[in-house]
Amino acid sequence: MSTVIYPSPIFGPVHSRRLGVSLGINLLPEDGKFCTFDCIYCECGFNEDHRPQKKLPTREQVREALEARLIMRQNGPKPDVLTFAGNGEPTTHPHFAGIIEDTLALRDIYFPQAKVSVLSNSTFIHKPEVFDALNKIDNNILKLDTIDTDYIRLTDRPTGHYDVRKIIKGMKAFKGNLIIQTMFMKGKYQGEDVDNTSDRYVLPWLETVKEIAPRQVMIYTIDRETPDHDLEKATHEELDRIGKLIKDSGIPVSVSY
Ligand code: SF4
Repeated sequence: MSTVIYPSPIFGPVHSRRLGVSLGINLLPEDGKFCTFDCIYCECGFNEDHRPQKKLPTREQVREALEARLIMRQNGPKPDVLTFAGNGEPTTHPHFAGIIEDTLALRDIYFPQAKVSVLSNSTFIHKPEVFDALNKIDNNILKLDTIDTDYIRLTDRPTGHYDVRKIIKGMKAFKGNLIIQTMFMKGKYQGEDVDNTSDRYVLPWLETVKEIAPRQVMIYTIDRETPDHDLEKATHEELDRIGKLIKDSGIPVSVSY
């Protein structure tokens, strides 16, 4: 098994642990990965290993490809969700807001019961057009792996300026209309311990999650091949312990093992 680069702009449907039958919308090129993070656990690999040569799909290309696929699926199993994910950070697309508008309109025509989800690393939520677009969708799923700056530098590895306090402020501005997604894992990266399942990381993160007050928290662990090969899954017991802490604070939680 190796890291995976997804077709663009539409892929799947795939069965998602967290979302069900998911038709993927990938706003990055089909021949590489581009992200404002460079996570050591990214299933698409490290940024430097997959530099895309091709251009981003245009808004029109995404709309046409999505409509064609939705028409095709009229006679097959219905998607539970249309999910923006794939080869990097979807909100970096310059026409992200327009593409969300098109997607909501197509969803309403072809599969009105399907949810529209975005998996984002939160780095562009300060942009008003991105914020407004994320506020309109069903599942605004934003990454917050920790609030520890050193741990973020070691594992999520932002490629530009990153201020976790600003990200938290941006998350609070959604006033509950968000889902926080957090990766818990163990093992080593370049000889350094990357275990974020202990109270040292979990408790400050939990306090922040309570302040942000999302409508749900999704916690999960490594499921596929990762570019760093010394990573390990968090155990069921560790995830259950963290899940219980969230639940006891009154916030709904989903745990994917
Ligand atoms: S934020 Fe997501 S796409 Fe970007 S590097 Fe991390 S796991 Fe990969």
